[in-house]
Amino acid sequence: MAHEALARKYRPANFADMIGQGAVVKTLQNALSTGKIHPAYIFSGIRGVGKTTAARLFAKGLNCEHGPTATPCGECTSCQEIRRGNSMDVLEIDAATNTQVEKTRDLIDAARYTPSRDRYRVFIIDEVHMLSLSSFNALLKTLEEPPAHAIFLLATTEAHKIPETIHSRAQHFQFRRVPERQVADFLAHVCAEEGIVADPAALSLIAKSGEGSVRDSLTLLDRLVAYADGPVTEAAAVEVLGVTGREGLLTLVEALSQSRVAAIPGFVDQLLDRGQSLERFLSDLLGLVRELVRLKLRGSGKQGDPTLARCADRFSEEDLLRLWDLLLTSQQRLKGTPEADALLELQLIKAALLPRILPLDRLLGRIPEIPLSAPEPPLPMVPPEPTEFKNSTPTPPEASPVGAGGEVPPADGTPPPGGLRFKAIIPFKRMDEDEARTYEDKDDERIHRFRETAAKRLPLMQETLKGAFLSLDPDGVLHVALPSSDATGATLLSNRERREAMEAVARESGLPGPVAVETSAGPEPEKSPSRSSSARSVSPVPDRRDPAVDNVLRVLGGRLIRVIAPPAPEPAEGGPHGEPE
Ligand SMILES: [Zn+2]
Repeated sequence: MAHEALARKYRPANFADMIGQGAVVKTLQNALSTGKIHPAYIFSGIRGVGKTTAARLFAKGLNCEHGPTATPCGECTSCQEIRRGNSMDVLEIDAATNTQVEKTRDLIDAARYTPSRDRYRVFIIDEVHMLSLSSFNALLKTLEEPPAHAIFLLATTEAHKIPETIHSRAQHFQFRRVPERQVADFLAHVCAEEGIVADPAALSLIAKSGEGSVRDSLTLLDRLVAYADGPVTEAAAVEVLGVTGREGLLTLVEALSQSRVAAIPGFVDQLLDRGQSLERFLSDLLGLVRELVRLKLRGSGKQGDPTLARCADRFSEEDLLRLWDLLLTSQQRLKGTPEADALLELQLIKAALLPRILPLDRLLGRIPEIPLSAPEPPLPMVPPEPTEFKNSTPTPPEASPVGAGGEVPPADGTPPPGGLRFKAIIPFKRMDEDEARTYEDKDDERIHRFRETAAKRLPLMQETLKGAFLSLDPDGVLHVALPSSDATGATLLSNRERREAMEAVARESGLPGPVAVETSAGPEPEKSPSRSSSARSVSPVPDRRDPAVDNVLRVLGGRLIRVIAPPAPEPAEGGPHGEPE
């Protein structure tokens, strides 16, 4: 027995079976029940969402022996003839394939004749925007003085190509894309009816590939059933549809969470080898990240997919939001670019390099019982007692534990302490313009040497460094400040390897300390006048510190570099506001 295509078999036989077009269906049914019928209707929307089906159902409703009715019987002669496509009074014209232009025009001209048997003479014109000019003119002439018995149902995927004169004489219905969820549910229903065993994940992938078209989705299901020759699995769907499955996406997101940049090019190559649509891939990836964000907001671990929950746990809420933001921007940029694969690779690398941000509450959770509001006088600057803290490593009292990067070993070669570490800390602070101008000490010989050496050793970072302000603090820490507009530069420079490279150059230039990267609202460097070293904005570290600040420094493995005074007058009240970098 010949296989009947699912798309054909499950074509809706009545209005109630139509999926996802609730408003349109309701209006059409109302017209049929009240008898307020327009001479022409435009049904527009993408292919496979039910335009022609709705037109046929409407024709049935008009001409059913028991009608006009919103619920045509489907069994009378008229209903059956319409279903078979051989009704004398319901004419279907496909404007896209009908090459006999004259014939089409004659058919439309014939609308003035009364129906041969039924109530109405109905013209269903598919892809009406393809009609010839003479046919459009015939249509217009008919609609200017429409005979009471003639109804035109004009289906099109490109409503804007229909002349305005026709538009203004017709009622326009826009058929929407059917939401994925609804399509997937419908596919599950079809599978149940057909005795097809299908993985819901596979059906979701099909629904997504169908892009809101029920007919396309059913056709894909047909193909997959033929391919799988058994249960329809996600793996089969990935293969046939040429998409990246959930597992592949999760693997990628895991690589992103671990900053495994090296894995990205191979991943992109795979996409290209399989001939995947990069836009579709990015859209799927965005979908997954969005799910992760939602899971995070709900609080993971409650229920649902444990794999997903584990993946969400790898990120902080802020990380996920920034990843989401980056991917959304990538999606916009990907549209219509000739270098789509290169752009995608670049954006994924950026995503992998996004510095991880530890949520403040988790961070504070690591600081045991700090009397933040304690009225105690500030303690003298004493080395911390390392034994108090489980998560931090003993810190040598006289030396800086670790530089701004957290992972950068001090210049003397001692290994960085274990425990909590950051890839990078980038404080986003705003300096006023004067402060920014004084930021770089152009007279400092060591900064000159650093710039010269960096120009030779670090050609790839050259552009970014050119736009940066450099300054040295009394501890010998080199600060690289970027204009806040240069987010890409900040991401580049805060990468661990690049910071280590900068450190090597710093040592070569006679600078002992680590390198700190910060972004600021500073002006363009070429505009900044040179200043003497006395104008340096860095304040020396005070000899008295707030114990809470010390705790933060210990937990982060950082050290105090600059102190920024609070805006209010504050003579000797409490501890100074330290800023760990
Ligand atoms: Zn009927």
